[in-house]
Amino acid sequence: MNTPKVRVRFAPSPTGPLHIGGVRTALYNYLLARQLGGDMILRIEDTDQTRFVPGAEAYIIESLSWCGIQFDEGVHIGGPYGPYRQSDRKQLYVEYVYQLLDSGHAYYAFDTPEELEALRNSHPNFQYDSSTRQGLRNSLTLPAGEIKRLLEARTPYVVRACVPAGEEILVNDLIRGEVRVQSSTLDDKVLFKSDGMPTYHLANIVDDHLMLITHVIRGEEWLPSAPLHVLLYRFFGWQAPQFAHLPLLLKPDGNGKLSKRDGDRLGFPVFPLRWTDPKTGDISSGYRESGYFPEAFINLLALLGWNPGTEQEILSMDELIRLFSLDRVNKSGARFDPEKAKWFNQQYLRMQSNAELAAAFLHVLAEKGIQAEPEMAEKVVTLVKDRVNFVKELWDQSWFFFIAPESYDEGFAKKRWKADSGTIISDLASRLIALKEFTVEVLDAEVQRFLEEKQIGMGTVMNALRLAIIGSGMGPHLTEVIALIGREELTSRVNRAVSTLKNS
Ligand code: GLU
Repeated sequence: MNTPKVRVRFAPSPTGPLHIGGVRTALYNYLLARQLGGDMILRIEDTDQTRFVPGAEAYIIESLSWCGIQFDEGVHIGGPYGPYRQSDRKQLYVEYVYQLLDSGHAYYAFDTPEELEALRNSHPNFQYDSSTRQGLRNSLTLPAGEIKRLLEARTPYVVRACVPAGEEILVNDLIRGEVRVQSSTLDDKVLFKSDGMPTYHLANIVDDHLMLITHVIRGEEWLPSAPLHVLLYRFFGWQAPQFAHLPLLLKPDGNGKLSKRDGDRLGFPVFPLRWTDPKTGDISSGYRESGYFPEAFINLLALLGWNPGTEQEILSMDELIRLFSLDRVNKSGARFDPEKAKWFNQQYLRMQSNAELAAAFLHVLAEKGIQAEPEMAEKVVTLVKDRVNFVKELWDQSWFFFIAPESYDEGFAKKRWKADSGTIISDLASRLIALKEFTVEVLDAEVQRFLEEKQIGMGTVMNALRLAIIGSGMGPHLTEVIALIGREELTSRVNRAVSTLKNS
């Protein structure tokens, strides 16, 4: 028998921005599809119109594209099994509802929301299921004539799955193994409503079948629905796809799942891109805007719940595609570590060439109104890149190459600026600017000579000079800074420090 081509789908609901757990689900689907030469499909599951959020679909598409997760078919690119948005497939589900009604695997239920509410109030554990349905107002209990009358009168109804009692349902999960559930514990989920809309459960099964999906890889939160899905495949007489339920992403302290509401509350983004809530205008930060490289973001997500079986942590998309396997996906939740996330970005930053980093840094500089020479930017980047995790942090580590300090760190000045500091650094500065060559080596040699001649210690001079040039005790080797800012800037910064700090 020919094994069918692997086809996987990412099937988000457009109910808000995509959570990083969702991106990871999309990623694992993508890795498997690429590894096995299969197809990756983007389907939008928008049957619950009450939870629809404008802009969410476009956000999902933009996020995945930023991450480099590519699709072969989908709502944004079309394909042979479209349409790929469930609201556009509405008509298509009707025949499947009738199929289930005709075969007795589903039934009409006419109970009003008020009646159900009253039942829930009087019986806190009330469930519409094989033990209660015989006492309720549905097509299993009402006479045929009454059902006909209600339908003709367009009485609102729902169609529910008729879950059999007393059966063991087996879900074969590629990550969790065999999961067995007693059918009597399941409720008769609503599959369809009289407004003509299917629910998630029905649409999901019908679409996975019609789109020839071979593997359903999704979050653990869908595991409780899987037994119903297995039953629905059986009711239809269809071959079920293989299931893989991915572990949850947990908060950094390991207590509970990382939720959308944790965005920014815990000090790190939970969304790939910045999101502005269309209702409240509230802004949640994103990995892209926080300065993450998409490659670093993908790398860190891939390792949240999966490992290659070696110590290797830095993995490109191509390597991930080669090494990924569902066998190595953990069963237990993966704890998100924001510090480790930064570390990944730092590793990717260090892998960039100085010229690439300089090009990115020139944009940061331009935003600050600074037009620097690419050559200067590259030299600066070379000096400070080991101190940062993000391109935007380059500025914090190097602004003094481009502008003079506006103030002087009080604590540092108190410790390092002595009564004779002004005279000493003015002296040294005039020696330095007189040098023919203005390179780090030549500057260092002249500083040495000066110290020996004057019989003073390195710390005494260089700390005061650092205060003048940078305004505090930070920064790289000082002559590196001096060589790049040049003679004129050296003179003016020293003069300014001397006149400002003289009385301190
Ligand atoms: N629409 C579901 C979601 O939003 C998809 C679940 C599934 O993949 O079956 O997560």
